[in-house]
Amino acid sequence: MTRVLHFLLLLITAAAASAQPQKLIFLLRVDDIMSRNTAILPRSLTAFEQAAESRGAKVTWVTIPHRLIESANQDGKLRRELIASAGRGHEIAMHGYTHICQRCSQSSHEMFCTTHNLPFTYAQQEKLVRDGLQILADSLGVQAVSFVPPGHHADSTTFQVLVEQGFRWISTTGPTKAPIAEGLMNLPPHREYTWQMAPASYQDRLRQALQDVRTLGRADGYFCLLFHDPFMRQGYENGLVVRWAGEVLDSLRAEYGGNLVFMTLAEAAQHFAGQITSLTQRSAAAPVFALAQNYPNPFNAATLIEFSLRQTTPVRLTVFNANGQAVAQLLDRMLSPGNYQVRWQDAAAASGVYHYRLQAGESSETRKLLLLR
Ligand SMILES: [Zn+2]
Ligand SMILES: [Zn+2]
Repeated sequence: MTRVLHFLLLLITAAAASAQPQKLIFLLRVDDIMSRNTAILPRSLTAFEQAAESRGAKVTWVTIPHRLIESANQDGKLRRELIASAGRGHEIAMHGYTHICQRCSQSSHEMFCTTHNLPFTYAQQEKLVRDGLQILADSLGVQAVSFVPPGHHADSTTFQVLVEQGFRWISTTGPTKAPIAEGLMNLPPHREYTWQMAPASYQDRLRQALQDVRTLGRADGYFCLLFHDPFMRQGYENGLVVRWAGEVLDSLRAEYGGNLVFMTLAEAAQHFAGQITSLTQRSAAAPVFALAQNYPNPFNAATLIEFSLRQTTPVRLTVFNANGQAVAQLLDRMLSPGNYQVRWQDAAAASGVYHYRLQAGESSETRKLLLLR
């Protein structure tokens, strides 16, 4: 009898556990605050913030510093709103300096020129970051700790500059939840909602967003919903985006109850950095090297592979084709600590998947790259 009861109790416990969703950390992020598009009015973030705040959510405002001192903001309205928002526990993250490339003048990137596939020097990037920090400090009175590279493009030089300038968190498109440089933790967004919000697609978009949270959010333990400033303010005009965001939050609260936790980018990154630190402490020692994903990737003509070394060690960097045959030996020599960039360009190579392997002393790491002719 006791055994039967015990068995029943186990069944009930199991059923209760599966009915209760796991804890979900939810981030609401708005990029490109002070967008390049000055035609979008009204220039106010308040309606969106209130929709979030009334549901207990926190907003991370990803702000382009230089826009705060341009004529588009001469009335100071957005500046005052951002200051008030930061005072209520929302976060101001830094989004480059001008969001315009100083080499090619395009507004799709800034920390690395993707048009010419050329990096900027440490000194150039340091100036951008320091000037941006200065504007945020002067205009808003905040010390930014999170950095979002414009267009998600950054390199290991960017990471080093950010570490030196006291940044703790970065958001690139990958890898997920990973320390990306010493003391710099990466936490990427899951979905960018940049589509035009129309009444006809409202319900479909809502279903899709909630489905994304259930799958991607469950896998990662967090979900970051990314809006863009122009999009969000267009929604402010017709009210749709603000209403939509509120409905997403209400649906999630109904589904997750007390297991839904709202955080800013910095808070969530800190949360996961703590978890990862405890994992790292269990492993023997800090890795000898860090190997970045090549960029651009996929690529057509040439691609750059970056890595950093912590100690002097023999290094081999080899490219393999899909059959595992070595097709290029890019490096085979002793290297001292520092950041390195190696270019791979092979006009004779066919389209397809390749792998590059970095072997440094006893350890090695392999990553995939994609050549598209
Ligand atoms: Zn450029
Ligand atoms: Zn941007």
